[in-house]
Amino acid sequence: MIPATFECYRPKTVDEALSLISQYKDEAKVLAGGQSLIPMMKLRFARYPVIIDIGGLDELRFIKEEDGKIKIGALTKHREVEKSELISSKIPVLSYCASEIADIQVRNMGTIGGSLAHADPSADFPPVMLVLEADVVAKSQNGERTISVKDLFVSVFETSLKEDELLTEVQIPIPDNNMKFGYKKFPHPATGFAVVNCAVGLKMNGNTVEDIRVAFGGMTTSPYRDYELEEKLKGKELNDSLIEEVSDSIGEGKDIISDYYADADYRKHVAKTFFKRLANELRGS
Ligand SMILES: Cc1cc2nc3c(=O)[nH]c(=O)nc-3n(C[C@H](O)[C@H](O)[C@H](O)COP(=O)(O)OP(=O)(O)OC[C@H]3O[C@@H](n4cnc5c(N)ncnc54)[C@H](O)[C@@H]3O)c2cc1C
Repeated sequence: MIPATFECYRPKTVDEALSLISQYKDEAKVLAGGQSLIPMMKLRFARYPVIIDIGGLDELRFIKEEDGKIKIGALTKHREVEKSELISSKIPVLSYCASEIADIQVRNMGTIGGSLAHADPSADFPPVMLVLEADVVAKSQNGERTISVKDLFVSVFETSLKEDELLTEVQIPIPDNNMKFGYKKFPHPATGFAVVNCAVGLKMNGNTVEDIRVAFGGMTTSPYRDYELEEKLKGKELNDSLIEEVSDSIGEGKDIISDYYADADYRKHVAKTFFKRLANELRGS
């Protein structure tokens, strides 16, 4: 299908982009890699009179190490995240996660900022960003602020970014070498999006859990960290019976998505299975 008519601006600098965003407010939509916005516009699920195409803003395309963090510009493509030697050496779970997104064509176009700003509950990055305790930088004409990823996702396609803000950067603290991370997803066979995905970070002290972070996507309207589950494990000896026991609570008390791809019980079953497999893999059994 053909999208409804729109005016298109191609700013040459971030400042110019911010000025256009502030001028057109909710009449305008930012276009990055176009891998989510263009299909929505073509299907006419979304119509915007003004499109601000930021795809040419090379100043937002970088991967660097600074202040103990990996900083990734919002316009960095999924494929660049997947292939970055810096990322694979410091945060291998992130390279793996990027490699799991769709196919090479989509990964060559889609951007990390676009994926996080789009807030699809089934996207790959969010659970991994949650366990990595990443932040995003949001800029507007009024200045800049940092938002923890745990406060970014509000609901389906909804974030805490303000109308006049552009997501410019993702910042990930370089994890402690003793914390191991893993990621699993059950992909939808047609799109590759996660029906359910799960990320775990685990730091052991002998047989005892020193620290653990667990996040799920595809389960509720927003990806979430399961802090209750984490608390049940911290300081405990990690064995098969404890893993089995705590996994029973996964998804309990939550409004789990149920659709014709997978009903709520099935999603919970997959989430429990992924958690158990990751806990076992990361503890080394
Ligand atoms: C066939 C297909 C399969 C896919 N499979 C997967 C998959 O398996 N896993 C997965 O995670 N994703 C998948 N995707 C989505 C893909 O990862 C997209 O790249 C991503 O969701 C959006 O990034 P984008 O740069 O294309 O953003 P766009 O489509 O350009 O924009 C998406 C939304 O984010 C906003 N936005 C973009 N950049 C910014 C910014 N810097 N600041 C503020 N707002 C911004 C836009 O205004 C828009 O609302 C798939 C897409 C396709 C077409």
